[in-house]
Amino acid sequence: MAWDFETDPEYQAQLDWADEFVREEVEPLDLVWSGQQFVPPDASLRQVIDPLKEEVRKRKLWATHLGPELGGEGHGQLKLSLLNEILGRSPWAPLIFGCQAPDTGNAEIIAHYGTAEQKERYLRPLLNGEIFSCYSMTEPHAGSDPTQFTTRAMRDGDDWVINGWKFFSSNASTSAFLIVMAVTDPEVSPYKGMSMFLVPADTPGVNIVRNVGLPGEPLGEGHHALIHYEDVRVPVDALLGGEGQAFAIAQTRLGGGRIHHAMRTIGLAHKALDMMCERALSRTTQGSLLAEKQFVQGYIADSYAQLTQFRLFVLYTAWSIDKHNDYRKVRKDIATVKVLMPGVLHDIAWRAMQVHGALGVSNEMPFFQMVMGAGVMGIADGPTEVHKVTVARQVLRDYSPSDDIWPTQHIPKRLAAARAKYAEYLEHEVGNQ
Ligand SMILES: Cc1cc2nc3c(=O)[nH]c(=O)nc-3n(C[C@H](O)[C@H](O)[C@H](O)COP(=O)(O)OP(=O)(O)OC[C@H]3O[C@@H](n4cnc5c(N)ncnc54)[C@H](O)[C@@H]3O)c2cc1C
Repeated sequence: MAWDFETDPEYQAQLDWADEFVREEVEPLDLVWSGQQFVPPDASLRQVIDPLKEEVRKRKLWATHLGPELGGEGHGQLKLSLLNEILGRSPWAPLIFGCQAPDTGNAEIIAHYGTAEQKERYLRPLLNGEIFSCYSMTEPHAGSDPTQFTTRAMRDGDDWVINGWKFFSSNASTSAFLIVMAVTDPEVSPYKGMSMFLVPADTPGVNIVRNVGLPGEPLGEGHHALIHYEDVRVPVDALLGGEGQAFAIAQTRLGGGRIHHAMRTIGLAHKALDMMCERALSRTTQGSLLAEKQFVQGYIADSYAQLTQFRLFVLYTAWSIDKHNDYRKVRKDIATVKVLMPGVLHDIAWRAMQVHGALGVSNEMPFFQMVMGAGVMGIADGPTEVHKVTVARQVLRDYSPSDDIWPTQHIPKRLAAARAKYAEYLEHEVGNQ
């Protein structure tokens, strides 16, 4: 039997080290430099974060899921999942460990589809944590349906010229380059007529019109850009992968991105459950601890059950990705994980918030950001509804219609068949009566 739910002792020791390191050394960054993970660090911040990154490298936990040729350890997705459960507690931790969104997904597609020159120019500094990157796909009028995208790239001699609008391009303002999806051939199906381009952020015509924030951020500030690409001229070698390959590349990009979010979500939801349990054991009201109230016990039991189910599903999906080495073969489960993720985080964070009373909804505890994070998880990388459609379609592939008007499991039909199968014995029984 090959089923095994244990982590080998050597890697468990690495995880134990990471757990303590994140709690002691990295989580304090979240308090002092909150929300600044994607701002290029100044000299004084570098003095803090560079040694932390160095320690992670020494422990051989830097970008571990990538192969050695890309500076990682070739650990794959299952081991990354176990690590990400720890990193998910802290917004800064993925950066300190070299596996933050959206850069990991972007790195994966350059590693997969990029030329040697593109890897040297973009991938190497990205993986070294020297620069940030942006994935610029969603448009103001269309997000979850990429077939409606209109941003256009036209060939002009040895160049491509890009024109159009993109929305919610995360970290565009602080990125060194953008990966832009554009229509290159409007005459064919959108699945074959779009391409990806690597565009340096300082290329003339890359106009960041405004930055959109999430709730709590002041209007006009935030990390998600509305960009007007206006006659943006890039050479032919800016094409990532072949012409017309954008959909295939996007699938690779988003498959990885979605499962990595799910891994980190386990860590965040676990943090909420930890806080819920601590509070339940610390607060007394109406003669007993919160932990002794059946409603609160229900919150804890439901949260534990949801989290454990979700975690096992994510680990299984990560294992499947490693096994098949092809996101398309694991599409159904990645989509299912994506569907479950917002609900799990929302429910556990909400209950933890409730158990903390007024303190829970205050700005002195992190629950509201977690609940909002759940909302974001239901939209970013595609809305839940669209992923449910994918799940249902994939599930239905394993079924076929009934061959007559009655369902295959219709009891009278099955009973008649069963009686026919055992007719000889039934006749005997009747004869004996
Ligand atoms: C925090 C955050 C970061 C993001 N970062 C990036 C980024 O870096 N780069 C990038 O390109 N994009 C990014 N996005 C954009 C994201 O990918 C899109 O928001 C997402 O794909 C949905 O597109 P939309 O917002 O246009 O919603 P729409 O496509 O307009 O959908 C709106 C709603 O319609 C419903 N709906 C849509 N389709 C269906 C359907 N088939 N069946 C039933 N109901 C449906 C759903 O309720 C859905 O939420 C980010 C989004 C967020 C929230």
